[in-house]
Amino acid sequence: MATKSLHKRESDLANSNRQLEILSNGIFQNGELPTFKSKIAETNQFPLKAKKLEILQINVGYMCNQVCDHCHVDAGPDRKEIMTRDTMRQCLDVIKNTGAHTLDLTGGAPEMNPDFRWFVEEAAKAGIKDFIVRSNLTIIRANKKYYDLPEFFKKHNVHVVSSMPHWTRGKTDKQRGDGVFDKSIKALQELNAVGYGMPNSNLRLDLVYNPSGAFLPADQMSMEKDFKKALMEDFSIHFHNLFAITNLPISRFLDYLIASENYEDYMYALVEAYNPTAVENVMCTNTLSVSWDGYLYDCDFNQMLELPVNSKAKHISEYNEDLLEGRNIVISQHCYGCTAGAGSSCQGTVA
Ligand code: SF4
Ligand code: SF4
Repeated sequence: MATKSLHKRESDLANSNRQLEILSNGIFQNGELPTFKSKIAETNQFPLKAKKLEILQINVGYMCNQVCDHCHVDAGPDRKEIMTRDTMRQCLDVIKNTGAHTLDLTGGAPEMNPDFRWFVEEAAKAGIKDFIVRSNLTIIRANKKYYDLPEFFKKHNVHVVSSMPHWTRGKTDKQRGDGVFDKSIKALQELNAVGYGMPNSNLRLDLVYNPSGAFLPADQMSMEKDFKKALMEDFSIHFHNLFAITNLPISRFLDYLIASENYEDYMYALVEAYNPTAVENVMCTNTLSVSWDGYLYDCDFNQMLELPVNSKAKHISEYNEDLLEGRNIVISQHCYGCTAGAGSSCQGTVA
C-alpha cells in the first residue's frame, strides 16, 4: 500500500478539478448513467436545500499518522495543512452562538494538531450535547505523548468515534497499513479500561466500518452484531454502536477504483442502489463543514473536492445563520455515495 499522499506523489488526482472532471465525464456525460442532479430532480428533490444547522464538523488538519488506501481526505504524515488557534477561536465563537447540538472534530488525525487539546478544553465548556472526536485509534499508541488520550477524552466527556474496518487483522491491515489492527485493539482496550464503550457507560465509543473494496456495506445492524461478537470473544472489547459508511468515489478511493478498473462498475452499483428516501436525510442538510483554514463547505467530501458553500458567508468568520440556512447544496456524482441503499453519513445509515 502507498506510504505517501496523492499530493506528495504529485498524482493527477490530487487535483480536485481532475476528480470532478472524471465524475462528470464518461458514463455520466454520454447518458449511460443519470447525473445526481437529474436523478434527484425525478422526485422533485432538486435543489437540495440546507435546513437548520445541527452538526458543526470541523476539520482541524489533514496530517495523519496513517496513509489508508481509501482515505477521502488524502491525509498522511506528509500533509501540513493544520488549523491555527486563531481559526479555532473563530470556530469557538460560532460554537457558542449556534443552536447546533453536535460538534464533530475530524482530520487527518485531529490529535496531531498542536492546539488540539486547547481546542477540546475550550469547546467542551460550550456545553454542546454531543461532542465527537474522530480518532483513528492508532494515534493513541503512536507516541508517548498520546498515551493519556483516553483519560483526556474522559475528562472532557468526548464522544469517541473510531474507524475499524474489520475484526480481523488481515482485512484491517490491508486497508489501513501493517500493524494497524494490533494497535487499534490495544487502544480499544485502553478506552474500555477508563470506561469508554462499556455497557451502561455514558462514555460513548462507536466504531466506523467502511468496505475495503469496490462494494457497498452490508446491513449496519447485522454487521454491528458480528463486530460485537468477534471483538468480545477474541479481545474482550466493548463498544456501543457501529456506523456503516459507504466509500465515496473521491480522492484515494477514486484512485483505487481507477487503478483496479472498478470505477464504472462501482458507479453503476451506487446508481442502482439509489434510494430517494435517503436523499431527505443526507448529512449536508443539517451539517456545516469547516476546513483547516476556516472555509465553509456542505460536507467533508465537498471540502476535499474544493466545492465551497453556495452562500455569501464563505468563511467561519462570516458565519451567518440567515445566509446559510436554506442555501442550495452543491452536488455532483460523488453524492450517489450518500444515497445508496440505506444511505450513508458520518453517523452511519440515514434511511
Ligand atoms: S486514519 Fe483516517 S484520516 Fe488518517 S489516512 Fe486513514 S482514513 Fe485518512
Ligand atoms: S456528498 Fe456531501 S453534498 Fe453530496 S449528498 Fe453527500 S453530504 Fe450532501
